[in-house]
Amino acid sequence: MSSPVTEVRFRKLAVFGVGLIGGSFAMALRQAGCVERIAGVGRSQANLERALESGVVDEIAPDAAAALSDADMVLVAVPVQQTIPVLDAIAPHLAPDAVLTDAGSTKCDVVDAARSHLGLKLMQFVPAHPVAGAELSGVEAATANLFRDRTVVLTPVAETGDRARVRVAAAWHACGARTVEMSAQRHDEVFAAVSHLPHVLAFTLVEMIASREDATELFSFAGAGFRDFTRIAASSPEMWRDICLANREALLAEIGAFRDRLSTLAAEIEAGDAADIELSFELARAARAKWLRGSQ
Ligand code: NAD
Repeated sequence: MSSPVTEVRFRKLAVFGVGLIGGSFAMALRQAGCVERIAGVGRSQANLERALESGVVDEIAPDAAAALSDADMVLVAVPVQQTIPVLDAIAPHLAPDAVLTDAGSTKCDVVDAARSHLGLKLMQFVPAHPVAGAELSGVEAATANLFRDRTVVLTPVAETGDRARVRVAAAWHACGARTVEMSAQRHDEVFAAVSHLPHVLAFTLVEMIASREDATELFSFAGAGFRDFTRIAASSPEMWRDICLANREALLAEIGAFRDRLSTLAAEIEAGDAADIELSFELARAARAKWLRGSQ
């Protein structure tokens, strides 16, 4: 884990996808005083105009060439399946002194896309995943403090250059985050378990209840526990569709493991096995408390 105070200056930041994450990165770097100018590129003109009006970006770039002109720092913060066309558009215009990072919640697919589209410029790219966010989307949800005291996982590859490694890490540190490095594969396994599976469970539970004939009555009695458990089902469907498909293998393994645990619990409930049910709930409660104390 590293979070040194590193001085870093950028002439121009180009953000592809000025949503929650891209907007927050732009705001954080501006607040830290380490960027002179910020250009935004996006799919939704209305969202880009909100970004311009609120001062998150200084200009809306019509295309990758305009965004990357004079840019020495580039962030890709689009739904992960959009990474391929975006990197393809970036590759011919990325200046030799520019460094590139992303924010995708999955990393093996992003690394594969970078390998096939960046060519020798792969050395300028440091894949990243900020473990920070919210169930909200769009630039209006962006905040300069989103990454403060949060972890950003960096998954550099063998070809990643030292200069890119240092400058990209320094940019995330300037946003208030600490960085940790791991392989893209391990990243995807870890996040399948602690992020992707929980989102799939939340979406599935709400969808299951909503599809029942008595849904209105059921929702009318749903309380705080249901609200807490399903908060993340308010997240962007497009983003989570992309994450599920990009991390298919690791996620399917976690869904299988969860299904097995649920079957065991169902068997215990059916058998009236009070001791085993209580024991597994005790283990879960203790593990959660330990995690919240930060000792796990
Ligand atoms: P968001 O929906 O708020 O923003 C995404 C933006 O990308 C939108 O403005 C959209 O118009 C734009 N976009 C989509 N396709 C594009 C394209 N081809 N070219 C340019 N712009 C395009 O989403 P977000 O929450 O900021 O997520 C962005 C990335 O960050 C995703 O890859 C997501 O997996 C990752 N991430 C999200 C969170 C979170 O909690 N929201 C946390 C960590 C990482």
